[in-house]
Amino acid sequence: MAFSLYISKRNQVSLEIRRGYYMNIIDCHIHCSESKEDALIPYAKMNGLNYNLSELLAMMEENNVVSGLLLSPPQNNGSPVPNREIHRLCMKSKDRLFPIITVKPLGSEVSKCLELARANQGYVKGFKILLGYFANYPYDQVYSRIYTYAESHNLPVMFHTGDTASSTASLVHAKPLGLDVLANERQELKIVVCHFGNPWLHDTAEILYKHPNVFADISGLFTVGAKYSRRYLNYLARALSEAIYFMGTAEKVIFGTDYPIERYSDAIKFTKSLKLTSDDIRKIFSANAKKVFDI
Ligand SMILES: [Zn+2]
Repeated sequence: MAFSLYISKRNQVSLEIRRGYYMNIIDCHIHCSESKEDALIPYAKMNGLNYNLSELLAMMEENNVVSGLLLSPPQNNGSPVPNREIHRLCMKSKDRLFPIITVKPLGSEVSKCLELARANQGYVKGFKILLGYFANYPYDQVYSRIYTYAESHNLPVMFHTGDTASSTASLVHAKPLGLDVLANERQELKIVVCHFGNPWLHDTAEILYKHPNVFADISGLFTVGAKYSRRYLNYLARALSEAIYFMGTAEKVIFGTDYPIERYSDAIKFTKSLKLTSDDIRKIFSANAKKVFDI
């Protein structure tokens, strides 16, 4: 009788434990909405994803992702999906997803965001600022009330940095180096550089190295299917690992998918491919997120 090639779930788990990778994962950067105008729908299609809450929760379960932070996706008109919609989806997820409030650079919007944060203290896990999608630098005065509130409640502020999903966005405003000015002014503010500032990975490494209060996520760094995808992934794993060598530590680096930009299987495989110790990879998957976000 031929031996079965089937490996039971239990054996898979013990193999993963031996490899040092079996762990609970936290995804600090997820998008989802029910808006037909959601600008991430084409990316979801490219990845063969349905892009809805039930698929997201099922994929999290399947990949041992115990919790995640939900951020507003952009819509085709350039405006993010309203924060209340994100909040509603988080409530539906029953403590699997927690909201991050996206802040537009307008005084009235800042007031609304603060109101929402105050009404949901403990549940809201931070703020997000879309550098590049709006032509404001991170040290623009319009955001100062958000920073003061975030400092006093120990909430991180996440910043979109680097490449944008829109061809009319402003890369000058999306460069991670702008965050150095803010971090100099606000040494108590927890700053998260989204997408590790890609393609300015080494600029981001320098900011993380310089400032104790600055961290970075590694979400949304790639989509699959392009002509040089495999080579790009090899390059990216090398470049990101080197940026971490420059910093001398992986303790400020946080796992994220930017779902639906990356599929869970691809994002996890990519993170495991970083040329780091298995202990550091474990920290990137969850311990670092726990230190930065109250999750
Ligand atoms: Zn994102």
